[in-house]
Amino acid sequence: MQSASGPIKVLCWSERTEPETVYPQGINGAIAEGLRDAGGFDVRAANLADEDQGLSDLDWADVLVWFSHLKHRDVSDQNVHRVVDAVHQRGLGFIPIHSSLDSRPFHLVLGHRSGSAGWREDGCPSVVSVVQPDHPIAQGIDRLFVIPMEEMYAEPFAIKPPDELVFISSFAGGEVLRSGCCWYAGKGRVFYFQPGHETYPVYYQREIKQIMANACRWAAARSHDIGTGHWWKRAEGEAR
Ligand code: ZN
Repeated sequence: MQSASGPIKVLCWSERTEPETVYPQGINGAIAEGLRDAGGFDVRAANLADEDQGLSDLDWADVLVWFSHLKHRDVSDQNVHRVVDAVHQRGLGFIPIHSSLDSRPFHLVLGHRSGSAGWREDGCPSVVSVVQPDHPIAQGIDRLFVIPMEEMYAEPFAIKPPDELVFISSFAGGEVLRSGCCWYAGKGRVFYFQPGHETYPVYYQREIKQIMANACRWAAARSHDIGTGHWWKRAEGEAR
């Protein structure tokens, strides 16, 4: 698990089908850059086409950020299970974003299939509302903020009910989605975050970068404080 001191080690992984016009270094490269700007992280970016499908550094990582969209099935069974086991048994933090709601590691980590009732790639604004303002992932974020261009995902969102709900997003047609959801899975922590269609520059936005840094810090801790209520206040002094 995470070292007793030093930066949080984050592996930012992508299948890399996102257009280079929007994400020249991939959506994972944009996230990695945001984490480096935030400080306190040792960040590596890797892609599906890399050696070992980009998962050579899985054992090194405290947190795995995951983006997949069209190639969910290309990830080998063995690598899917390596991710799942790392979350459950070692306490790897796992952060699937956007279309990764259909990824196999996400389904298997929670023992649940997921999917949204609908989507619309309209590039309209989305409003993100903070549901739990004292949650560590919401620190530094206004109660409401706008993502200027977004893809709509709609409830009902067929996920395992979140252990903690941090954000809800609303969309141009009045649709809503539980867009920032936390779960405890074995020793690991999981955060699903909906924003980020690959043709919109969502992951360069200040609030999104802040949320990703917060989420990586939250997910790097193990889930030993489950059920204690306001566990994060108790965990503040936790050695890292
Ligand atoms: Zn999308």
